[in-house]
Amino acid sequence: MLGSAVKYCDLCGAPLRGKGHTVVYEGGIITVCDSCYSRIAKFAKPYNLERTTQKTQQRPRQTNKTVDKELMVVDDYPTIIKNARERLGMTQKDLADKLKVSEGVIKRFEAGKLRPTLEQARELERVLGVKLIFEVPSGGEQSKYSRDALTLGDVAVVRERK
Ligand SMILES: [Zn+2]
Repeated sequence: MLGSAVKYCDLCGAPLRGKGHTVVYEGGIITVCDSCYSRIAKFAKPYNLERTTQKTQQRPRQTNKTVDKELMVVDDYPTIIKNARERLGMTQKDLADKLKVSEGVIKRFEAGKLRPTLEQARELERVLGVKLIFEVPSGGEQSKYSRDALTLGDVAVVRERK
C-alpha cells in the first residue's frame, strides 16, 4: 500500500514494522526499530510530537490583531511641525501645498487645534524630516496616556494617586 513510505531504522537500517520509535538521541530526532530502541532506550528521550504541534499552533495566535502595535501622532506635533517648517524656511502656504491641504489646516495643526491623521503625519515626516508618529502596544499604559481624551488635569490626578 504505502510502498514508498516505508521507513527504515535510523540506526541499523532495518525496515520498520509499524511506526517504530521516534526518540531524541544524541541531540537528533531519530526513528528506530524495536531492537535498537531497547538498546538505546536508556539514553534516548521520547520525542513528544504533541508538544511540538501545540507550539506551532500557538504562533498564529500571537500575530492576532489584539497584540498589534498602535500608531499614534505625538502630542507635541504643533511645536514639531512649526519648528521644522520655520527651519526649512517654508511658509504655512508652502507646507499646505506640499501636503495638498489648505493653509488653514496647517494653521490648525500648528495651533494644536487639529491633530494630523496618520497619513498626514507620514507626509509631514517626509516633507519636514521630523518624527511625528510613534508606536505603542495596543491597550498598553502608554497608549492610554496619549489618548486625546486625557487632558493635563487628568494626568495630574493619575500622578497624585500613585
Ligand atoms: Zn534498528
